[in-house]
Amino acid sequence: MTHVVAVSARWHTELLGEFYCLACGGDRNYRRQRGRNWLRVAGIPLLPLRRTAATLQCTSCRARYGMDALAHPTSSLLLAMLRNAHHAIALAVLAASGGQDAAPGVRDAAVTALRGAGYTDLDAPKLLAELAVAGSDDGDPDSADGADGADVGIDICGCGAALLVELHTAIEPLAPHLLGPGLTRLLTQGALIALADGPYRPAERSVLRVVGQCLGLGREETDATLAAAARTPRS
Ligand SMILES: [Zn+2]
Repeated sequence: MTHVVAVSARWHTELLGEFYCLACGGDRNYRRQRGRNWLRVAGIPLLPLRRTAATLQCTSCRARYGMDALAHPTSSLLLAMLRNAHHAIALAVLAASGGQDAAPGVRDAAVTALRGAGYTDLDAPKLLAELAVAGSDDGDPDSADGADGADVGIDICGCGAALLVELHTAIEPLAPHLLGPGLTRLLTQGALIALADGPYRPAERSVLRVVGQCLGLGREETDATLAAAARTPRS
């Protein structure tokens, strides 16, 4: 006769939600549960023991995780963050490339990149409208009169303060969840937009260096990625 006396947990569900299940390898529903261990004799719970810490259980595969499983974003959240990062980078590079007066090639390269990133109904007028809105948040009195689009938000960071903040908020939370090739791919995407009208301008280079910094890349790796992008033949 084995296991006549045993300790096992009884769980109760506190909350339902969605998370990334490592065992399933995808987005799944979880139940957050708390439990208490019971001393069982012949399967009958007789004596309550210690409470257990809260856990998450995948409703599909029933794998159980600690609460830290929530630190891993769901695939759909990751995708949204990635799109957002592409958007922030394209706008910042476009601003550094001259904003409303950027060369048509740069504008089109930004539109193409963003369509590829999931903004399928984007076109050049919409992109320029978004840039005007983003640039007007700088609180710069000169940027409100619209007399000269080229000077809107251009400063030492290359793209204006509002777009700079957007770069940090869009990229930094994403970066820890990307591997090396994913990081350089984002930077390269921005570089190819800047290169659409010729070699990097100083403002474009400084924006792209901020992108590299937000991605957690060192200055040397950033510059090497930018140099590699400049050597890539473009159609
Ligand atoms: Zn699962």
